[in-house]
Amino acid sequence: MTPEPLDLDAIRARAEAATAGPWAAWLDQDGADHMHGLLMVGNAAAVIPDGESYVDGVDVNPIAHTYTPEDREFIAHAREDIPALLAKVERLRRDRDEWEVDSRGWRKEAVALAAEVGTLTRERDEWEAYEQALAAKLDAVRAVHAPQVPTPSRPWVTCSGCTNGGPYPCPTIRALDGDAS
Ligand SMILES: [Zn+2]
Repeated sequence: MTPEPLDLDAIRARAEAATAGPWAAWLDQDGADHMHGLLMVGNAAAVIPDGESYVDGVDVNPIAHTYTPEDREFIAHAREDIPALLAKVERLRRDRDEWEVDSRGWRKEAVALAAEVGTLTRERDEWEAYEQALAAKLDAVRAVHAPQVPTPSRPWVTCSGCTNGGPYPCPTIRALDGDAS
């Protein structure tokens, strides 16, 4: 069985309609904790101090009679426990609502970041392909301008791609190696 949702408004209305607190366990005027076999809960301000027999100027009508001290404590504390629990539930609900709003914002941000990661990944892949194509072209240029084994007629290392018979490395290779002189 699914528990009924808490009807906070109804609970609050009942708490506000009940006699104002705080409440407390009452002893009777003889200091006994019961009167005619019943325990009492009443206005805390009307609890008779030790050594005295009555309290003046306060509501001395009991709020509840109970049969057990445990019920008396429960009812006496309910006056403050119920409003405290109501406040706690309301605070937790507000927190939950704020977290829900926050988490919606974070989810949107996560989706946007995921899209950006996708874009950047594609761009990186394109740059990598471009870099590989450039490296292949450089390798092709180096293959054309390769060192040639010296021959008796040209006893120095020459370039296979340059027809002037000049020494290797030729200006093209020197430019690729960053030596433009
Ligand atoms: Zn060359």
